[in-house]
Amino acid sequence: MDELLKPLIEGNRRALSRAITLVESTRADHRQRAVALLAELPKKQALRIGLSGTPGVGKSTFIEAFGTMLTEQGLRVAVLAVDPSSTRSGGSILGDKTRMETLSRNPRAFIRPTPSSAELGGVARRTRESIRLCEAAGYDVILIETVGVGQSETLVAEMSDLFVLLLAPAGGDELQGVKRGIMEMADLILVNKADGDLLPTARRTVADYAGALRLLRKRPQDPEGFPKAMAVSAATGDGLDKAWAEMTALADWRREHGHFEANRAAQERQWFMAELRAGLLSQLDQPQAQAHLARLGDDVAQGKLAPGMAATRMLDLLGQMSQE
Ligand code: GDP
Repeated sequence: MDELLKPLIEGNRRALSRAITLVESTRADHRQRAVALLAELPKKQALRIGLSGTPGVGKSTFIEAFGTMLTEQGLRVAVLAVDPSSTRSGGSILGDKTRMETLSRNPRAFIRPTPSSAELGGVARRTRESIRLCEAAGYDVILIETVGVGQSETLVAEMSDLFVLLLAPAGGDELQGVKRGIMEMADLILVNKADGDLLPTARRTVADYAGALRLLRKRPQDPEGFPKAMAVSAATGDGLDKAWAEMTALADWRREHGHFEANRAAQERQWFMAELRAGLLSQLDQPQAQAHLARLGDDVAQGKLAPGMAATRMLDLLGQMSQE
């Protein structure tokens, strides 16, 4: 049994941090230990909430207020981030220490800053595994934040039970700016900054998005009235309790109707496939495989070997190599 397992399950935050550092490592021996540790984790279930929104829309302010509210209800809250662009211009969405200052000091909360790396596949693996670790450590709600660059929104949606899109109040024209695919992933659209002078615009924006959501095809995993748009203010806290009530109502409905478990099962299957692909790709990176690849590639380029045949041979060679 891994020495991290016991303190982790007991909710020790240092053990959780160390376990996440372990799953983030790409060193082969760390990887082996991480895989073994993950296999030992007890089955616990937190509510996994994906949260997306462009920079400036108020994600950190929202998480700070929303997370604090949940902890006041006795819940334990973990915050993770998927930010594949974090190497750019120091733009790490959780790198800034001043973000979520209150929540980060809250003993019922755990905030993990985004490490500054990496390609999306690595980020995906790390986040999935971190979610598991947070669940095993007894967190009730896991917020997975993304700025929605490239494929990161899809990735987060694929790891979440609920997907929440945070938007700013805007004129009707800007509604077009939200890609249809992202609207289709959303379970709840929260129009933030519904306070002060922005309140009328926010209300109009909610109506616009509610209209747009009604035009989407109905999904089997949605009860009547979902996906839904509503107004919140992360700054004043208005609407946060209602937003939470909608989230729990939706999750409860999905549990009752089997969609929650079905979604988790599909996600586990996806995870398995992703790990398998990653494993195959890393096999291709081995020096011996690289030599075969170069040789077969030359044969293909010189017309001596058909591409499909070369691929079949390469796969055979990989099989042989793994038996050696
Ligand atoms: P992020 O980049 O999405 O994490 O956005 P931040 O949480 O850093 O917020 C960006 C700016 O919007 C900051 O100046 C916040 O004070 C402001 N802001 C966030 N939420 C609200 C809100 O509910 N109302 C108003 N009026 N301003 C907000």
